Amino acid sequence: MGRLCAFARRPVAAPGLTIPPMRTLPPALALAVLAVTASAQAPEWDLARARAILDQTAELRLAPELSGLGPGERTAVTKLLDAGVLMQALYEQQRHPQALASKAALDARHAQAPTELTRALRDLYRLNQGPIAVTLDNRREPFLAVAPQAPERNVYPAGATAEALEAFAQAHPGRRAELFDTRSVVRRADAASIAADLAALDRHPVLDGLHPGLRARLQALPRDGGFYAVPQAVAHADELVAAHRLLHEAADAVEDEDPEFAGYLRHRGRDLLANDYEAGDAAWVSGHFRNLNAQVGSYETYDDALFGVKAFFSLSLLKKDAERSAAVAQAVGGLQAIQDALPAPPRRVREQIPVGVYDVIADFGQARGTNTATILPNEALHARRYGRVILLRRNVMTAAPILDAQLAAFRAATVPAHHAELHGDAEFQRTLWHEVGHYLGVDRTADGRDLDAALQGAADLLEEMKADLVSLFAGPALRARGYYDDAALKALHAAGVRRTLQNNRPRRDQPYQTMQLMQQNWFLEHGLLSWQGDALAIRHERYPEVVAALLKEVLDVQHAGDRARAEAFVARWTGWSERHEALAAKLRAAGGPRFRLVRYGALGE
Ligand SMILES: [Zn+2]
Repeated sequence: MGRLCAFARRPVAAPGLTIPPMRTLPPALALAVLAVTASAQAPEWDLARARAILDQTAELRLAPELSGLGPGERTAVTKLLDAGVLMQALYEQQRHPQALASKAALDARHAQAPTELTRALRDLYRLNQGPIAVTLDNRREPFLAVAPQAPERNVYPAGATAEALEAFAQAHPGRRAELFDTRSVVRRADAASIAADLAALDRHPVLDGLHPGLRARLQALPRDGGFYAVPQAVAHADELVAAHRLLHEAADAVEDEDPEFAGYLRHRGRDLLANDYEAGDAAWVSGHFRNLNAQVGSYETYDDALFGVKAFFSLSLLKKDAERSAAVAQAVGGLQAIQDALPAPPRRVREQIPVGVYDVIADFGQARGTNTATILPNEALHARRYGRVILLRRNVMTAAPILDAQLAAFRAATVPAHHAELHGDAEFQRTLWHEVGHYLGVDRTADGRDLDAALQGAADLLEEMKADLVSLFAGPALRARGYYDDAALKALHAAGVRRTLQNNRPRRDQPYQTMQLMQQNWFLEHGLLSWQGDALAIRHERYPEVVAALLKEVLDVQHAGDRARAEAFVARWTGWSERHEALAAKLRAAGGPRFRLVRYGALGE
């Protein structure tokens, strides 16, 4: 799975409405359930309910300076923003079948007679990227008159359950790969669905040509209400054919100024139609681009509440910070030396990895929000062949609402002597070296197994904790190289402590929060942190030894690949005392606005 490594990721959706499994119902009754489901629409929220959420929402506006771009690059930006608008609509459509219709109706009302209510509802839609709001008590509720959120979203057929899909795949093993492909859309095998897919092939002969055999397979399908799947390229044919054209127009515009970026955009455009991202991923990860970069397509699977396999659409348009990228590239040059210093078995690593510092011009779909760093692609095969690219999102990391909340939390948690130690650049460095940390350490178990397969439910949290600890462990070596000075190293330590703060007791299914609490408890028990009343004091001189010891523990557990040992390790370090609870209450009080709505200058916002 891909790792987003964000400070503020969208929480993974809890399954919503439970619908009786279709396979237990006769077809007529199943249709009746569907009809009831579709009509069981919640009433629209009133202004007071909308306000309650919006009052807890901070806005941030991203608007990097674009005047340094060449004329071709500026044209490419407008083409890619247009492609982004398509990706945004696709994403909303993937998440809720009534999203686009409800938005169109709301926009029409607002255009006719704008009111405070229509304005608030449009902001809520923007904040939630659809008609389902996250409430203050972390539930998901429709705020427009639409059906409640269902776990199948709009990437499996309405009413389909995990059990029904799994049973169908067991009975039809030859269809399993198609049904659970990360870039396919699952349908019910009925005349209307099959006709719609065949019509898409008729409308777009290019898709018929790129998917040989698909037409014949669709024609031969039994219309028996079972399941089948089509590539996203066919399910979203009109939008993706349009996106392909825009990517080509952007490529033509930058051909003279940035031929490598142009080549990547052409590959990616074809990927969207071929439903195969390998060519574009290779060009993306290994490319040297001038001023622009773009993440385009469907990558992350967090929104699939049934199986966690379906990728949702996104587009991020980024402007390179040349000076900071060069500094970072130089700093991450000698990775082998850092790897060799780790308390881990020897391993050869890449000396250089593609990492860049960017300002977000605009994000669309799944990528929209306050993610601070991205590492892609996710597919293990592509990552092994071509590596991965790290995109650090500087203007998100340093945006006032995000940084202010981090500083406020740190000050609420620590004794006054430490309050001035943390600053934004330290959080940037910690994030950078966390991402680099994912490249280092142990990459398989002693007996050669894949870490995810061996450690299962503990794999993610151990990998994330390793990355956190590598970022801290590398501090003294980078101080010796002159990369940090004493104050910067101290600030990095402060950021490491800030990272461990929890404003609620973590649930075991929250890998980030769980591993953060484990670090805090280890730091407390080993004298790096200590309680002074209800606040924490930091003993900086203890940092190298205490971090190295925990990192050794994590790497040992990964290397052993023993699931039971991993779970015992997690249980040992996730204790929660009255002092933790009191600190959490202080952090909640210092927390500031709960939600963040991002606006983009490039979109005229
Ligand atoms: Zn990470």
